[in-house]
Amino acid sequence: MKSAKSVQSFVTRFAPSPTGRLHLGHAYSALFARDAAGPDGTMLLRIEDIDLTRCRPEFTAAIEEDLAWLGLDWPKPVRHQSAHLLDYAASIDRLAAEGLLYPCFCTRADLAAAAGAPHGIGLIYPGTCRSLSAAERMDMIGSGRPYALRLDVSEALRRTGPLAWTDLDRGTITARPELLGDTVLARKDIRTSYHLAVTWDDAIQGVELVTRGEDLFEATHIHRLLQALLGLNVPVWRHHKLLLDSAGRRFAKRDKAPTLRALREAGRSAAEVRTLAGFPDEAAAQPG
Ligand code: GLU
Repeated sequence: MKSAKSVQSFVTRFAPSPTGRLHLGHAYSALFARDAAGPDGTMLLRIEDIDLTRCRPEFTAAIEEDLAWLGLDWPKPVRHQSAHLLDYAASIDRLAAEGLLYPCFCTRADLAAAAGAPHGIGLIYPGTCRSLSAAERMDMIGSGRPYALRLDVSEALRRTGPLAWTDLDRGTITARPELLGDTVLARKDIRTSYHLAVTWDDAIQGVELVTRGEDLFEATHIHRLLQALLGLNVPVWRHHKLLLDSAGRRFAKRDKAPTLRALREAGRSAAEVRTLAGFPDEAAAQPG
């Protein structure tokens, strides 16, 4: 007999970037998204390929091959962000017309110097270019200096007022986008960014529950602000742990973590890999 407890259903998504082969950490993330959708829910697949220098079509094909092998399926056609760059640019234009963005001419070296750190990693932008005058901006743009567009977070928050969002595991969270500073919404090379594209797509695709690694927890603050600024639907979120290898390190492409293909070629079955990723099949998990 079916349990009387109703299981909620959601539209969720798995949104990898095709910059390499999927590894066990990705398998965990994809299986988490599928599981979080609930038995009657839907997990979408989205290819996050705005970074044309790092993404490769062969990795996109490999993602679908690996996920299908793992036993996952998803509605077709799959959304590829690279096919929607004009939509993101239109949102950027809208925010710019509302006076919420400003051009930032800082180079990586400028940012590192401002942070007093060698790499500028984890830097909160000190707002250097926010105070440039309109004439200075025009001059620098006119002279061909490349620039990114940053969100003026305090002005944006002034217009939206206080915001909150729901993490199904942690409860109601007050949005604090200022923790990330004036984030880049349009990079120097493309008229969008991870934050803008992911927020726009989740709304356009009707995603109801966003699942992502807890390393991106802070990003959700800025996404909530963007939803308010662009009048988009607000989903709920879950931020999952990051799967660690036997040495306690997170799986990462740069560490040459074993790929799903390598595991498959070494003779591991999909069921074994699902178990390794922390999602054993129900029958296998039953004692006895
Ligand atoms: N594309 C992002 C990644 O590969 C994840 C997107 C998200 O879940 O926000 O890390």
